Amino acid sequence: MAQEDYYKVLGVDRNASEQEISKAYRKLAKKYHPDLNHEPGAEEKYKQVNEAYEVLHDKQKRAQYDQFGAAGVNGQGGFGGQGFGGAGAQGFGGFSDFGDIFNDIFGGGGQRQRVDPTAPQRGQDLDYTLTIDFMDAITGKKTQVSYNRSETCSTCHGTGAEKGTHPITCDKCHGSGYMTITQQSAFGVIQRQTVCDKCHGKGVIIEHPCKTCHGAGTVEGKNTIEVDIPAGIDNGQQLRYEGQGEAGKNGGPYGDLYISYRIKPSKDFERRGNTIYTTVPISFAQATLGDEIKVKTVHGETDLKIPAGTQPNKKFTIKGEGVPYLRGGGNGDQITTVEVKIPNKVNEKQKQALVDYVKASGESITPQGKGFFERLKDKLNGE
Ligand SMILES: [Zn+2]
Ligand SMILES: [Zn+2]
Repeated sequence: MAQEDYYKVLGVDRNASEQEISKAYRKLAKKYHPDLNHEPGAEEKYKQVNEAYEVLHDKQKRAQYDQFGAAGVNGQGGFGGQGFGGAGAQGFGGFSDFGDIFNDIFGGGGQRQRVDPTAPQRGQDLDYTLTIDFMDAITGKKTQVSYNRSETCSTCHGTGAEKGTHPITCDKCHGSGYMTITQQSAFGVIQRQTVCDKCHGKGVIIEHPCKTCHGAGTVEGKNTIEVDIPAGIDNGQQLRYEGQGEAGKNGGPYGDLYISYRIKPSKDFERRGNTIYTTVPISFAQATLGDEIKVKTVHGETDLKIPAGTQPNKKFTIKGEGVPYLRGGGNGDQITTVEVKIPNKVNEKQKQALVDYVKASGESITPQGKGFFERLKDKLNGE
């Protein structure tokens, strides 16, 4: 197969989020599904979409692909992703994602093989966006998350059959889920494969459906799990919770849950990666003569020495007062910008001191009087 650019195949941007990639994949997989789309080239396209997704939805493989191209991900003994597979179907590897029962086995020498519809399939992955407070992302915290998902029916344990009964192999398709239709056309006899109309592709018939799940084997449920907010987590980062996705089929494992973190802004701090940015006002006198001030940090407060002669907007780097590194090893820095405040108003004493200051520095200035409105007010008051 010619190597297409995986991002182009999925029609996503190079810096697309994992959610965008999953979304694009699901849309395209449906569009080009060989059983839904019989146009020439659809099957090839379907394979490409799967291949692209398999690489781009895996952080590690994606990074390798970004760096080395397809060669970076192909030389690793195939795509049988760790932790995935195990869905019972040999050679099925990571392609069992989304439990697509009609998925193809790659590298089959051009011969398209169907996967046994009664084989266990892994459940779908789920995405969840967790919005957290600014400070929780710095200190870390545990929280609970509740969401709806399909769960294996506890009455029938996923078989879909009533207690004491079992699904039987479909006699029309002999369990393959497919049947071959022979049609007469102007060009002769055409044979095509289609989903079995008796079992609807399941390969089995449930004569006595389970009363809890009505034969589906899964029920809608609400799942609540404890989720970790690691100290230092940043906007858009994701954590995977294995087995917390949707129920698998035919006894297959659950999919995974991907938690994406969204961090609320703070009114005191601006964060960029592990660096915290703040501004602090100081007076003209502090800037000129120097001072030691207290500065707010995400960890409390710290002392900051303002040297004599500090200029407006000077940036001070305060080491180790930033955001903790996710992998440990301390914190980033805080960068604090000083804003030199010019007083709006001075009293007589301050004014005199400034006049003396001007004299002492040999400057010649023409202090401006009251503002226009103040003069107008004075006039109206008869001054
Ligand atoms: Zn059931
Ligand atoms: Zn059938």
